[in-house]
Amino acid sequence: MEKRDTLIEVKNLKKFFQIGDNTLKAVNDISFDIKRGETLGVVGESGCGKSTAGRTMLRLYEPTEGDILFEGKSIRNLNPQEMKAMRRNIQMIFQDPYASLNPRMTVGDIIGEALDIHGLATGEKRKQRIQELLSLVSLNPEHMNRFPHEFSGGQRQRIGIARALAVEPKFIVCDEPISALDVSVQAQVVNLLESLQEKMGLTYMFIAHDLSMVKYISDRVAVMYLGKMVELAESDALYEKPLHPYTQALLSAIPIPDPELERKRERIVLQGDVPSPMNPPSGCHFRTRCPKAMPECAAAEPVWKEVEPGHFTACHLYN
Ligand code: SF4
Repeated sequence: MEKRDTLIEVKNLKKFFQIGDNTLKAVNDISFDIKRGETLGVVGESGCGKSTAGRTMLRLYEPTEGDILFEGKSIRNLNPQEMKAMRRNIQMIFQDPYASLNPRMTVGDIIGEALDIHGLATGEKRKQRIQELLSLVSLNPEHMNRFPHEFSGGQRQRIGIARALAVEPKFIVCDEPISALDVSVQAQVVNLLESLQEKMGLTYMFIAHDLSMVKYISDRVAVMYLGKMVELAESDALYEKPLHPYTQALLSAIPIPDPELERKRERIVLQGDVPSPMNPPSGCHFRTRCPKAMPECAAAEPVWKEVEPGHFTACHLYN
């Protein structure tokens, strides 16, 4: 990958929720960066903290600890006014295109609301901009007075994308944007996101629950387990030579199109369920399900380490 400058830097980010007497450590000390124009895929089972990480990075949740730098500037301590201005740069596309659009608003008003909040256009200009945005996501601009229920799932996700693009952001967290869609429309939405990235120089964090979904769109991929990042690498390196036993297990579950290779595929079936993030195992959080667990895995938490250039993991096998 060519050298690009850093757009987002996440430093020791933590997001804990207090539930009664218990602390849910949804995101527990993760650090990484995202380059300008890059797509970082973030993958993990439900409850691993990937969506919470995305929301905390945009301060939709307030971080418990750590920092997020955007173009070198901390956004953690911005006051509400400064944060409002910052929101033009950082946007989110949500998983559920049914729940994330207000059913009582027309599509024009849903997109126009983003323009209004930031005072970007009024009157005829506003209408033109809404129509332009609808065209940009390949929807009919004449349909701006229709309501969300008049559109299909894939079209509603396009409306969500148009709403995010209205403020001309630089960075978009795409939180499982295709998981709720039919397989037949998933590729269309991914293609749209890719062409918009090219056209507008966007940077994405693309959250998904399985590695096959992020393979083609991501420059680099991060894998999360129980609030921790366990591996991060350029896509090719991660898919060809996964280091962490959890990543190896996730990859082994993906069918291979080549029938010859598919016959040889050895599936690593993980035992048990993901433990509760309220009470994660000592040492390595993955040790209760890891086929390679060793005594030291219970005693100490593995450190996050660059094992090969640009290829990070946290596992005692590499310490
Ligand atoms: Fe498995 Fe131990 Fe590595 Fe954790 S640290 S992934 S338990 S080998």
